[in-house]
Amino acid sequence: MKILVINCGSSSLKYQLLDMQTETLLAKGLCERIGIDGHLKHQPQNGKSVFDEDVALPTHTEAIAAVLDKLTSEQYGVVASMDEIGAVGHRVVHGGEKFASSVLINDEVMAAIAECIPLAPLHNPANITGIEACKAVMGDVPQVAVFDTAFHQTMPGKAYMYAIPYEYYTDLKVRRYGFHGTSHRYVSARAAEMMGKPIEELKLISCHMGNGSSICAIDGGKSVDTSMGFTPIAGLPMGTRCGDIDVSVLEYLCANTGKDVKTITNELNKKSGVLGVSGVSSDFRDLTKAAGEGNDRAALALDMFAYAVAKTIGAYAAAMNGVDGIIFTAGVGENDAATRAGIGKYLGWLGVQICPGCNQKRGEETFISTADSKVKVMVIPTNEELVIARDTKALTEK
Ligand code: AMP
Repeated sequence: MKILVINCGSSSLKYQLLDMQTETLLAKGLCERIGIDGHLKHQPQNGKSVFDEDVALPTHTEAIAAVLDKLTSEQYGVVASMDEIGAVGHRVVHGGEKFASSVLINDEVMAAIAECIPLAPLHNPANITGIEACKAVMGDVPQVAVFDTAFHQTMPGKAYMYAIPYEYYTDLKVRRYGFHGTSHRYVSARAAEMMGKPIEELKLISCHMGNGSSICAIDGGKSVDTSMGFTPIAGLPMGTRCGDIDVSVLEYLCANTGKDVKTITNELNKKSGVLGVSGVSSDFRDLTKAAGEGNDRAALALDMFAYAVAKTIGAYAAAMNGVDGIIFTAGVGENDAATRAGIGKYLGWLGVQICPGCNQKRGEETFISTADSKVKVMVIPTNEELVIARDTKALTEK
C-alpha cells in the first residue's frame, strides 16, 4: 500500500509518498507560496530528476494537483497512476480534547476539526484546506487525521490544568494541550526498542529540540506532562518563541511601548527566543559560530536554552519519580553535540553521564551516554511522517 502524507500550512504544503510494504520513502517535496505565486520542489527517491521550479499555485487544490502530476509523471514520477495511492494521512495540529488518537476522516471528524479552530486559528484551517483539496483532486481515497495534540491526552489533570478560574477550562477549553505528540510518540517507542525493554516498564523524557522545542515526560508509554501548553509558545525558549514568561510582562509591554496585545504576542512568537536574546539568529549553527567569535549575547542565548532544557528534565524526573532514558531529537537534538553536552552537564546528580566520543555522532540513532551511565541518553532522528503513514495504513486497512 502506498500512502501520501500531507502537512499543510496556510501557504505551504509538505508531502511524502511512502511504500508501506517496506516503509520506504518514494518521493518527498514542498509546495511554497500557495495563493501568492507558487513554487514546487519535488524530490523523487528513485534516481529520477528533481523538479525545483516556480509553478502557479493559486490554491491548495492546484498544489495537490501539481504534486500528483509530478508523482505520476514520466520524467519525475514514482508511481504509474494516482490509483496506486491507497490513502492519505494528514498532520492536523489541534484535536482539542476530542481526539486522543488518529481517526479516519468523515464529515463528523471534519466538523470536530473545525470546532478546534479557535484553539489553533492559524493551523487547523490550513489542515482542513489540505483535506478538502485532496478530496477535490483524489475523490474518495480514504483520508486519516493524525493530531499533534493526541499523544498528550493521557496527561492527568494536575499536569494539564492551569490554576485559573475553573470556568475558563469548562467554558473556553483553556488548558495545557501540548504539541509535537507524533514526534514524542515515535522516538519514545524507538527508545524502548533500543533499550530492549517494553515501553510499559520505562520512564522516558523526550526532548524535541528544533526551531520549535518541547519536552515530554513519558511514563509507561503514556505522556504524563509536556512543556508546550495551550499554544506552542509555552515551555522552553525556542528559535523565535519566548517560552515560559510571567504573564504580567504582556500588560507591562503594552503599557510601556504603546503596542497592542496582538503586536506584542506576535513579537513573543516571532522575535523572541534565542533570536531575541542573541539578536543574531534563530539557528543554533549561527549562534554557536557567533558565540565562538566572542558574541556574549549568542553565548547567553545558548546557555539559557541548555539551562531550561535541563531544568525541565529535572522537573519531569520528579514528576515520574525517576527516569530511565532521555532522548534528544529534531534539528538541534539530532545534530548539536555542544548543546547536548551542555545539557548533560547539569544532570550528573540524576545519574546522567554523556560519553564525549559517542556524542560527536549526528543524525543517526545512537546512545550518547557512557556504558555505566545510570540513565541512558539517546539521539533518535524523529520521523513524524512514518508515524502518520503507519496510522493511516492501520486505520484504512480495517
Ligand atoms: P527542525 O525544526 O527540527 O527542522 O530544526 C531546525 C533547527 O535545527 C535549525 O534552526 C537549527 O537551529 C538546528 N540545526 C540543524 N542542523 C544543525 C546542526 N548541524 N548543528 C546545530 N543545529 C542545527
